[in-house]
Amino acid sequence: MKKSEIKKLVQNVESHCAQKGIRFTQPRRFVLEIIAGSKVPIGAYDILAKLGDYLDHPKPPTAYRAIEFLQEQGLIHRIESLNAYITCHAGHKHTGSQFMICDECGSVIEAHLCELPKDLARKMVEEGFILSSWNAELHGQCKSCSA
Ligand SMILES: [Zn+2]
Ligand SMILES: [Zn+2]
Repeated sequence: MKKSEIKKLVQNVESHCAQKGIRFTQPRRFVLEIIAGSKVPIGAYDILAKLGDYLDHPKPPTAYRAIEFLQEQGLIHRIESLNAYITCHAGHKHTGSQFMICDECGSVIEAHLCELPKDLARKMVEEGFILSSWNAELHGQCKSCSA
């Protein structure tokens, strides 16, 4: 994400939090900036290391709590297979997550289908399964790496 885009994102989140009466604390803001500024998904350990550029000797729980908050708000996603985080490009909270992950350059594209694929949804109904969340991660090569 470009610097100007990050600034806009942070501003949007700031007004979203103000409207909802949620505190957008400094660590929350900085962690969002760090994740948004990373070209590839970034892990909690690296987030903590970078948080040191913003805060004096931040403790791990400071970073972890900020990550948890951003996740709860639907502002970031955890890529399970990489154990790393990216910002959400949807601009709203959604339940399903689908990502195309390039194994060459590490870039991630959010597919952002809000609905479960039909065949899967039908199977779930057949099985009487109650869905709480879902996540699909597709690994492969992005357009520029496969060219
Ligand atoms: Zn998203
Ligand atoms: Zn790639």
